[in-house]
Amino acid sequence: MKKRTKFLICMVLTAAILGACTDKAGVADTVAESGTESATAEKLPEVTLILNQADAGGTVDQPETDASRGDDESGEDIEGAVEVSADTADARDEADTTGENAETDADTGESEATVIDGLTVSTVSLTDSMPYASFSAINTGAATLYKNPDPVRGKYVICVNAGHGTKGGQSVKTQCHPDGSPKVTGGTTGAGATTAVAVSSGMTFGDGKSESSVTLAQALILKEMLLDAGYSVLMIRETDDVQLDNVARTVLANEFADCHIALHWDSSEKDKGAFYCSVPDVASYRAMEPVASTWQKSHALGDSIIAGLKGQGIKIFSSGTMALDLTQTSYSSIPSIDLELGDKASDHSDSRLRLNAAGIITGLDAFFGIG
Ligand SMILES: [Zn+2]
Repeated sequence: MKKRTKFLICMVLTAAILGACTDKAGVADTVAESGTESATAEKLPEVTLILNQADAGGTVDQPETDASRGDDESGEDIEGAVEVSADTADARDEADTTGENAETDADTGESEATVIDGLTVSTVSLTDSMPYASFSAINTGAATLYKNPDPVRGKYVICVNAGHGTKGGQSVKTQCHPDGSPKVTGGTTGAGATTAVAVSSGMTFGDGKSESSVTLAQALILKEMLLDAGYSVLMIRETDDVQLDNVARTVLANEFADCHIALHWDSSEKDKGAFYCSVPDVASYRAMEPVASTWQKSHALGDSIIAGLKGQGIKIFSSGTMALDLTQTSYSSIPSIDLELGDKASDHSDSRLRLNAAGIITGLDAFFGIG
């Protein structure tokens, strides 16, 4: 573990340097080259916030909850689904550990890998050719990919996304949906809006801790437990800040992972229990790519993880779901959930975070049919 920690520090520094040196200026203005029709929709100018309830495409019943959620823009998503995973898995294999300088390949977005504690580790960042990359506004940061040689779980890459933690993310907007259509549910950004906060800052727990610090603690514990269990892991954020907005996080997950779990706590104050954000039952939304190809798989993932948490004795909110139109969901091409592990009043001690992680791993095993 010590070695891994040391390595982590190196990777963070490398990521910072890569981030500073990589010219992403063109990314936001470039239309994604591949992907679905929707990926070629023109990017709307930032700052335009159109509120038109009549165009919201219908209302969605949500379980009774505090309307003050601060996280509705926490989602990330992907395009391409299963076929994409197979291709990227091959690409990852080829990029394997050659021990050269950690330069990032301009085409794949992946750095040369290094072997640490038996894990093959590289950093990954956005490239123009990744589907939906052009919709992101903050993308100079890098995520870290840990490939595990475990013969059973190692082939599955779990994207662990510590919610929030992008300085400046609150003052930048990104398009809610790749096709430019308006949001179908409310939240911090109202239904009908076509742009939303790129990364919100998150809430503050009753004890004064920031949500972003707790999601980070949870992500780091989950990472260690996933790696110990044999899974491969894509870590979006391992420090207080990463310059990747919700779209960029989703694009990287789509490209390098097999499923995407964003970690959050809700802004209510009742210790109401854990749930995942399910895909709103609005026909136009469920028909929009990449949502159309992904939402049922995301529900299967969410249901498995909620069952895993339940198995650890963790309190579950209502049926374990709340329908929300999130940026993450709107751009995800792999199974992807925003997981709310409780709220401002919920236990977030290390022991509870370990319990949460154990529940998530049980859920992943069930989802992938392992064990
Ligand atoms: Zn959150």
